[in-house]
Amino acid sequence: MKKTTKIRERWVVKAGSNMILSGGPLLIRDWMSQVAQLRRHHGVEVIWVTSGAIATAVERIQFKKPKRELKEKQALSAIGQPAIQDLYNLALQAQGLLGAQVLLTSEDLMNTVRKKNVQNTLNQLLDWEVTPVLNENDAVATDEIKFGDNDALSARVAVSMKAQRLVILTDVEGLYDSDPRKNPGARRIEEMKGITPSLVKKLERESGTGGGTSRGTGGILSKIKAADLASKKGVETWLAKGDLPQVLLQIAQGHSVGTRVRKRS
Ligand code: GLU
Repeated sequence: MKKTTKIRERWVVKAGSNMILSGGPLLIRDWMSQVAQLRRHHGVEVIWVTSGAIATAVERIQFKKPKRELKEKQALSAIGQPAIQDLYNLALQAQGLLGAQVLLTSEDLMNTVRKKNVQNTLNQLLDWEVTPVLNENDAVATDEIKFGDNDALSARVAVSMKAQRLVILTDVEGLYDSDPRKNPGARRIEEMKGITPSLVKKLERESGTGGGTSRGTGGILSKIKAADLASKKGVETWLAKGDLPQVLLQIAQGHSVGTRVRKRS
């Protein structure tokens, strides 16, 4: 395949279950249009990490149950995953791009041989200008189902793939100086030098089990932990609202959106 643009930066962008479900195919189309523009006009190549497989299956087969067993969630992920990948493929096609699905587990990034295999595959796809769309392989691993909604996975991918930035797209504007649900005067924190242990402890106290929603297991704590891991390993992290107009392009243009966590090394 021929190359069309000179790449200057690599980003990992992660979209949460809530965003996928509330935004649906239109939001995915909009994101993939931004992915195309990032490549064509900003020299940024993107590895996309998506959640939302379980939540999509729950909606599609009307699997209404107050509490789902882990094995049910795993089976639901197998139903929902091809459905969301279809949406990404169609959205990328509309931009003249090709998508590829890569399902992986955190162990794949810890074992030296498997990590090298993941790196080789992703590097080859990017070299061909194909957009990799990743998710945790929930049918065989459950780290992110239990806690995280792919936040930790996306940070590990960003570090392993030597990305310059990790962008976590979620349903809140970023990190606030106090809880905006309780305090209307809460202000968005625009920038942080890194994540302090005291912030992690404070969020742990506030969120109890770690937050999350009925659709995903993330919450702000797992995002902050992901940002901490990334920033310590030289990756800058952005927490931003996924349906903010042109959110990725705004970040590329240096606008103040979300919360930017600077890298520490
Ligand atoms: N990998 C899962 C999915 O795509 C994560 C969702 C969760 O946090 O339960 O559905």
